[in-house]
Amino acid sequence: MPEVNKPAVQKNTENLPELLKPVMAEGGDTIARLLVEQELITPAKLIYAKRIKAKLVSDRSLVEIFKELGLLTNQQLNEVLKKQRLNIRIGDLLVEMGFIHQGDLDAALAIQVENRQQKIGDILVEYGFIDEHRLMEILASKLGYPFVEPVFAEIDRELLAQVPAKMFAQHSFVPIARIDGRAIIAFVDPLDLEDLEAVDRVFGRQVLPAIGTRQAIREVIELYRRGAQRSEAEVADDSTIIGIVNSLLDDAMQQGVSDIHVEPMKDRLRVRFRRDGVLGVHKEMSLDLAAPVATRMKVMAEADIAERRRHQDGRILYESAATGMTLDLRVSFYITVHGEKIVLRLMNKKGELLDIDDIGMAPRMLHQFRDEGLASPSGIIVVTGPTGAGKTTTLYSCVNHLNDLESCIITAEEPVEYVLDGITQCSINPKIGVTFTETLRHIVRQDPDIIVMGEIRDTFSAETAIQASLTGHKVLTTFHTEDAVGGLLRLLNMGIEAFLIASTINCMLAQRLLRRICPNCTVPYTPTPDEYRRLGYTHGDLAGADLQIGRGCTTCRFTGYKGRVGIFELLVLNDEVKEAVLARKTVQEIRRISIETSGLITLMEDGIAKAARGKVSLPEVMRRLPRILKPRPLHELRRLLGE
Ligand SMILES: [Zn+2]
Repeated sequence: MPEVNKPAVQKNTENLPELLKPVMAEGGDTIARLLVEQELITPAKLIYAKRIKAKLVSDRSLVEIFKELGLLTNQQLNEVLKKQRLNIRIGDLLVEMGFIHQGDLDAALAIQVENRQQKIGDILVEYGFIDEHRLMEILASKLGYPFVEPVFAEIDRELLAQVPAKMFAQHSFVPIARIDGRAIIAFVDPLDLEDLEAVDRVFGRQVLPAIGTRQAIREVIELYRRGAQRSEAEVADDSTIIGIVNSLLDDAMQQGVSDIHVEPMKDRLRVRFRRDGVLGVHKEMSLDLAAPVATRMKVMAEADIAERRRHQDGRILYESAATGMTLDLRVSFYITVHGEKIVLRLMNKKGELLDIDDIGMAPRMLHQFRDEGLASPSGIIVVTGPTGAGKTTTLYSCVNHLNDLESCIITAEEPVEYVLDGITQCSINPKIGVTFTETLRHIVRQDPDIIVMGEIRDTFSAETAIQASLTGHKVLTTFHTEDAVGGLLRLLNMGIEAFLIASTINCMLAQRLLRRICPNCTVPYTPTPDEYRRLGYTHGDLAGADLQIGRGCTTCRFTGYKGRVGIFELLVLNDEVKEAVLARKTVQEIRRISIETSGLITLMEDGIAKAARGKVSLPEVMRRLPRILKPRPLHELRRLLGE
């Protein structure tokens, strides 16, 4: 193994003019030396910069001095860094580019002397000299390494198998895929000499280095290790109960379903999957399997296997041997006349975490929601809708959008459905005494900037949200109501004072999820005279609409639908709406005022606009969305939505 602090470019000093050798011998100025070698800086200028450095009171690197003297542009510097990146060490790079001080690096090197196993990059991150994401960003932008997000299920297993197991224990990299005969390797620190040499021993020179986060790389290695252990220990095939249950979970995971229903019936055991919001039969089995399947699931959920007369619930953390993915499931055992019905809800469908720009809001509404809602320093933002409307997904997109180093975000959720990096998340669990009420009492003592409350479920949680907002916090929450204006009314009906609502609620976003038309089998759709009549439209009102429906094909399992689309109604509490709330105006009046003064678009109208773009079907829009007012003509909606 090479020495930890071996200067990477020692050999190159051989080529330097004699005059410079004493100047360079001091070390620590790797990049400055590379600039001289590349003839971007003359030896005379280097000596000049060194004299200036010596006279400065503050600690500046030579690179910074070159830039200040106008001897070097950022572009020239970046070109040299990218070309010479293998001759640079991470610590030198950070110091010389001015991201950390020499003192920080010295301290980190001192820690490394104590613990030779630890990489300098790890120490800098672990002891807080630099934030990991910032470090990745620097490596990516300055040295041109691509970012990768290794996911175990997608990794080339043959490549993984080439790496000796003990190498994973000593190094921080993982091979990902092979492209044109070259292995793509994700490194935590692509400048680490030992890691580079280890990769070199296994894969030779033909590699494409990339960077990934420490957490993602460790997760892959950990799952790979566990998989290797399990395949020796436990063999589960379809003929065993373990195998039957595992393959149900694997199927559900692969098909992207949200819930699994295991239902004992009079003469058979039926399994249905909920996909895109709709249940469908997955398979039917012999009724003899009902009891053993229930027992196996209780074991996995750590529920009471002897109890068969009472409802129970639990949580399963399932690691799939087939896909390598981990699945988090919430399980409910419900006693029916034919035995225990089991419903499993899949919690961590990571793919569903969307950027706020991608949740499907029309441009003008998105703009208003981001600028007047999310960007305001305090106030309550409420996402409303019935169960299954996608409220939680939107809430997470908002949290993700607000997540930065400057703010403290704390959540009280029931339960945590996605784990987000950098956020303090708490799962409510009344069984062990972590109740919603108790959590809310403690949350404000955690010095939060933003509080995420899973749901307003009673007067107490509504009051807590209002109290937090009055003391200057931003609060994000969900509420179970039909539409945005209805949310205000329900708060009033819960006994919350109108002036408190008017002074704290920032906006109400009502949401629904409709099924997306399968893009593989669309055909044009002409509305029926009855549909025109029910919309209160004449033919001209839908002019320019590109209405479609899905005919059904193999990719959508002949349903005509694939995936889902969010439909939104945004109520912003501007002054006019606040006044209307204070004056206790009716829902109809508040809605009219909001349409006139803040450009509110109803759910039905947003649905019509999305149907007109061929995303959702008009019959489904009419069946699923509340029709409160006569929708406005399409050309007007398009103008209001900024489409
Ligand atoms: Zn299709």
